[in-house]
Amino acid sequence: MVAVPVTREREQQVLTTVPRGLLIGGAWRESSGGRTFTVEDPATGAVLGEVADASREDAVAALDAAAAAQGSWMRTAPRRRAEILRRAFEIVTERAEDFALVITLEMGKPLAEARGEVVYGAEFLRWFAEEAVRDYGRYGPSPEGTSRLLVQRRPVGPCLLITPWNFPLAMATRKIAPALAAGCTMVVKPAKLTPLTTLLFAQVLIEAGVPAGVVNVLPSGSAAAISGALLPDPRLRKLSFTGSTPVGRRLLIDAAQNVLRTSMELGGNAPFLVFDDADIPAAVAGAMAAKMRNMGEACTAANRFLVHRPVAEEFAAGLSAAMGALRTGRGTLPETQVGPLIDAGARDDVDALVAKAVDAGAVVSTGGRAVDGGGYFYEPTVLTDVPHDAEILKEEIFGPVAPMTTFDTEEEAIRLANDTEYGLASYLFTRDYARMMRVTEQIEYGMVGFNAGVISNAAAPFGGVKQSGLGREGGAEGLAEYTATQYVGIADPFAMPGGPGRLG
Ligand code: NAD
Repeated sequence: MVAVPVTREREQQVLTTVPRGLLIGGAWRESSGGRTFTVEDPATGAVLGEVADASREDAVAALDAAAAAQGSWMRTAPRRRAEILRRAFEIVTERAEDFALVITLEMGKPLAEARGEVVYGAEFLRWFAEEAVRDYGRYGPSPEGTSRLLVQRRPVGPCLLITPWNFPLAMATRKIAPALAAGCTMVVKPAKLTPLTTLLFAQVLIEAGVPAGVVNVLPSGSAAAISGALLPDPRLRKLSFTGSTPVGRRLLIDAAQNVLRTSMELGGNAPFLVFDDADIPAAVAGAMAAKMRNMGEACTAANRFLVHRPVAEEFAAGLSAAMGALRTGRGTLPETQVGPLIDAGARDDVDALVAKAVDAGAVVSTGGRAVDGGGYFYEPTVLTDVPHDAEILKEEIFGPVAPMTTFDTEEEAIRLANDTEYGLASYLFTRDYARMMRVTEQIEYGMVGFNAGVISNAAAPFGGVKQSGLGREGGAEGLAEYTATQYVGIADPFAMPGGPGRLG
């Protein structure tokens, strides 16, 4: 099949299918104040459309609906909840092209990557459809033999789910699917920059049979108004947030007032370690995937390339050649491999980090500049000889820039890898399995890619340690985040009236 550019007519046709209101209690409505905000195409700066701007009052109405629906949804048979999730998986898969185009239009990533996000995002619906009927508890005797212990998991209750702009479908399904599977109702607040994908997905949930009030969606230009209204409300039982560490820290403080259950998927500063025994072409391919997925705008993005000195030159040459060959452009064009950054601020932040690194002695091997013209493009960039204390090695870059530095020993590599407040993803390239185990056991990261540049998977427990967050999404762990353990102590059935009395 020959890839053809997407026409403006096709863009408009898809955009007209996206709801623009607030979803509250199963109905689409305007915001209470009638306000809207605009959504932009980051490749051109053009306005894609207007979306209802939820207020504090709308947030309370959404929680009213979620709280009212909680009882019947948690009593809905797990099999039925599973079937609804499975149907949602099928509808998203059938409409994969529409979802991919909306993601590309509002977020900027190339269509091929947006298609990849649709597959990944839909996979959470399928995975949690399968997990919904496997939420097992346990039963057994107490060690003394005098009672029985019954342990079951119950839905935690109405949740507030806050998502970022970088994976507008997958970050939503990674929360909504396990919450639905567990029997929780919810209020979802998508990122202001990319609400369209979530609104389109909300429509799919209605079609798939999610009852009114179970999923409520509030696009809003004032995120703090929504969280400010809901976090202190005693009917809310959980906050699941994906976003930056500073905002996560703020929300944790607010959530503490109500002692809310929290799942926090925050920022990262992933080290990418290349040892001298690694397969260097494979490491370069892994580096391209770990760095360039989503133009580097991923919490899992390789942020620091730590390379064993004997192979540093070979690795830098391979990475620079691969990065320099990438084609930058609007994501709807078939030849595009690198899209724009999300907004002007994001591009300027990347540019400033590169400039400071160069001032500190880093050498630009390829790229190094913002691209002139419309949109927020930045050249794929490789920096070598980056000093260990450079700011670019400490901050989340969130752009297509690969800073490289060298190490001489395994101990030094581990020390450098751990020299950050973050602990989300890490990558390790070596052919030596004993070294892989040694390093893995000493680095403080929630996730390790071993000779692999892409680690995200719906079946895997995704999450971090240190200031990268709390809790896990995906896997069996992802369902547990939406349940509360309930223990029932049962008297010894033999000692009950009418029983034979305790034996032994
Ligand atoms: P962000 O923290 O600015 O915003 C995330 C979400 O929080 C958005 O919906 C935003 O509207 C909302 N928000 C912002 N301020 C708020 C407030 N005061 N109260 C309530 N909500 C508020 O992050 P972003 O720029 O959208 O996303 C990029 C960040 O997300 C990066 O740091 C990245 O590492 C992180 N991220 C982490 C993961 C993960 O799984 N750990 C995944 C994707 C992105």
